[in-house]
Amino acid sequence: MIDTVSAGSAPPVCPECGAQVAPALLACPSCHRLVHVDELKHLAAAAAQAKQTGDASAELAAWRQALDLLPPDTTQHRTVATRVAELSRAVDRQPAAGKQGSRLGKGAAGGLGAIGVLLAKFKFALVFVLTKAKLLLLGLTKASTLFSMLLSVGVYWTIWGWKFALGFVASIYIHEMGHVQALTRYGIKATAPMFIPGVGAFIRLKQYPTDRREDARVGLAGPIWGVGAAAAAYAIYFASRAGIWGAIAHVGAFINLFNLVPVWQLDGARGFRALTRKQRWIAVGVIGLAWLLTSEGLLVLLLVAGAAAAWFGDAAQESDGTALLQYTWLVAILSLMTRISVVGAARQ
Ligand SMILES: [Zn+2]
Ligand SMILES: [Zn+2]
Repeated sequence: MIDTVSAGSAPPVCPECGAQVAPALLACPSCHRLVHVDELKHLAAAAAQAKQTGDASAELAAWRQALDLLPPDTTQHRTVATRVAELSRAVDRQPAAGKQGSRLGKGAAGGLGAIGVLLAKFKFALVFVLTKAKLLLLGLTKASTLFSMLLSVGVYWTIWGWKFALGFVASIYIHEMGHVQALTRYGIKATAPMFIPGVGAFIRLKQYPTDRREDARVGLAGPIWGVGAAAAAYAIYFASRAGIWGAIAHVGAFINLFNLVPVWQLDGARGFRALTRKQRWIAVGVIGLAWLLTSEGLLVLLLVAGAAAAWFGDAAQESDGTALLQYTWLVAILSLMTRISVVGAARQ
């Protein structure tokens, strides 16, 4: 999409009353006519259509865009904001794979019996994997993502060789696409992932998540996909006994665990935002337990940062069971993964 506002042109004039309207304004200062009234009509129509097809994410995206075009102190803004909050919670209640999965499930349970259910489950899993694979490939069509990614591969290649460089960058990429998928689900606009050699990758949000819950879901979706990537690499390692896969899996698990440190802009901080003080102490307890069991040194960092966030941090008022469950599950599984011993993973 290309921005249609051309720089340097004269200030537009209100078609209703003829007053000059400065480019940044959302409503005419004299008659209060909405500047983006045509675009708002379009977005409302798009939202209505999405609602008809039951696509809550698309409806959410349209209303969020409308929100950006409405002056904040108006009734319309409040109405749309309420709808956005409603839809976001509705999306949260949907299973991750969406409508298609539940339809398949229902059809099978209705008449086909146990084998049918099994087949449907397999088909569901296949559709699930293919949808994720499609999304993963879709991310590569962005030139900025692909270019910065190749640059990263090049830099790591010179240090660790090409096999490890490719696997390492692919692990980071899958983690980032977890965030992308969650953002799409909540209809939040964001940039494509950008890689920075030696640092990792990032996505910049163009719209703010509505609340702590959305922030936590989007933040923890990265490490959740990261677990998937590390698990797949471990599986290949055990099947092939090729040390390189063990090394890729190990570093993937480590990086995702590092991202759970609840400080700064890290994913763990987003997850912690949704937790009450009590829930934060529970998370700290789980981190402590994981440390006792695995003696993974990185967990000390999580423990200290987590305790600080529980003690002084700006905790949520409303508890979020899903965020706590996701965070503690991630800590547990990633700590265990870093303990899997990898043999012959030296540089190849
Ligand atoms: Zn006017
Ligand atoms: Zn992340």
